[in-house]
Amino acid sequence: MTVQGQVAGRTREARTVVVGGGLAGLLAARSAARAGRSVLLLEAGPALGGAIAAGHVAGVPLSTGAEAYSVAGGHVDALLEELGLDGSAPDAAGSPTVVTPRSGLGSRIVSDAGTHPAPSGSVLGVPSRPLARDARAVLGLVGSLRAALEPLLPARIGSRPGASVDAVIRARCGARVAERLVAPIVGGVHSADPRTLELASASQPLAAGLARHGSLTAAVRAITAESARRGSPGTRVRSLAPTMGALPEALAAEIRAHGGEIRTEAPVRRISREADGGWTVALGTESVSTEELVLAVPPDTARDLLAEAAPSLSAAIPQAPAAAVRLVALVVDAPALDAFPAGTGALVAPGTAGVRAKALTHVSAKWEHVQAAARAALPEARSPHVLRLSYGRPGETLPDPSDIVDLALADASVILGTPLRRQDLLGSAVIDWDRAMRQARPGHAEALTEVTALLTRPEHAGLDLAGTWRAGTGIAAIVRASKPTSSTTPTTAEGTPS
Ligand SMILES: Cc1cc2nc3c(=O)[nH]c(=O)nc-3n(C[C@H](O)[C@H](O)[C@H](O)COP(=O)(O)OP(=O)(O)OC[C@H]3O[C@@H](n4cnc5c(N)ncnc54)[C@H](O)[C@@H]3O)c2cc1C
Repeated sequence: MTVQGQVAGRTREARTVVVGGGLAGLLAARSAARAGRSVLLLEAGPALGGAIAAGHVAGVPLSTGAEAYSVAGGHVDALLEELGLDGSAPDAAGSPTVVTPRSGLGSRIVSDAGTHPAPSGSVLGVPSRPLARDARAVLGLVGSLRAALEPLLPARIGSRPGASVDAVIRARCGARVAERLVAPIVGGVHSADPRTLELASASQPLAAGLARHGSLTAAVRAITAESARRGSPGTRVRSLAPTMGALPEALAAEIRAHGGEIRTEAPVRRISREADGGWTVALGTESVSTEELVLAVPPDTARDLLAEAAPSLSAAIPQAPAAAVRLVALVVDAPALDAFPAGTGALVAPGTAGVRAKALTHVSAKWEHVQAAARAALPEARSPHVLRLSYGRPGETLPDPSDIVDLALADASVILGTPLRRQDLLGSAVIDWDRAMRQARPGHAEALTEVTALLTRPEHAGLDLAGTWRAGTGIAAIVRASKPTSSTTPTTAEGTPS
């Protein structure tokens, strides 16, 4: 059946309307368009991509939101291949292409113990070999010995259903592992508080491994052995050159190529249910009627939009509050950074004296194409480097934008062990992400199960909900969930500081 939609007085077929032009919405619109349906995608903002965005700083093209994707499961690589972004097309020269991080650099953990290489072979910060030299450097001898006792503890210790990351790790591995290794990852990568984030939401494989083996250390060893067996122990993330912005662009191009329509600056204000079972989507004074509706918006927006049309479903959508993140991109002329003193970057333990940032990515160390782009854009500079610092742990007040560039220079100086001054600065940008990072609260997984069950009810026929709050944090989780065989189990994008 073809349903007619009214937009600005015109009549159009609008079999599938997708609200939200972030990754989840673009993928939903692409699937519908490829299935031969007529598609209308409505995005509130001026640009597509949501948290996948790009810009220029001092003339250097940079990803200003998500900067990489997890290779876990191979879902994103498969999508990029389908979109012709893997560099294999015969006319690919000069086109966007997949890139891997510079090898052999590793990353660092900054804590009150100083700046040390992140222990190898860990999952969510839990080390597989707590007595190894790299783990001892961060944990100290006492912390390492305490962590080494973990496999000897009874399986029931810390393994209460729904327990937070902090509760489980602290009880099993000790305070130092919780504070110096796990908290930097949960705050820096997930933008979450380890005291309220469920272990199963932070790392489903780790929670499942604990249930299976009765030990976190054993679970980490099994997970790392499995990824080594699959041949991907080091390369856990990849990106797109010149920026991740190539992904939403390619998805939008494919939607349009299949006849789909995309409108930006088209915020949806209201949704109502029609007597014949269709849905009406109101944008200002215009409205569109459709038999299939996908809401790919943040959870609070989905709750508000469905409050009248589907009250039971609206109430079941989990709150998943936003964690505001403020990023500072710095382009500095600093030959001392040619040695990549913090490898690809660093995660900072909460409460570390003298550093307010929660993470630093040495972008031009991690990505060779960014280093090449910086050199090409700034030929007069001695050695341009690109850094990205992030601020905003849950519950923290964000630093004032008026002096955050000076704060970022000071934090980068400590983390990199190299003084960086105002006169070294070639360009900077401050980027705010107020609503994109969502924190799964205890009970999130159960709420998602209820949402999935409610969506099968006849009164919700034709409606679907998508987005990071349902699929799990990160590009790989959203791509995986968009497949017909998807599961909605939350997963994570490890190693991708926000
Ligand atoms: C700073 C930052 C860094 C990150 N880094 C990484 C990384 O390196 N690797 C990784 O895998 N993941 C990363 N992530 C996470 C990842 O980017 C997100 O999980 C993912 O992009 C979210 O996609 P989404 O479609 O669910 O939501 P969003 O991208 O938030 O898209 C939702 C869209 O809905 C639109 N919208 C909202 N209300 C309405 C309305 N009423 N009408 C119409 N449209 C509306 C919004 O404008 C937005 O475009 C990062 C996130 C952030 C914020």
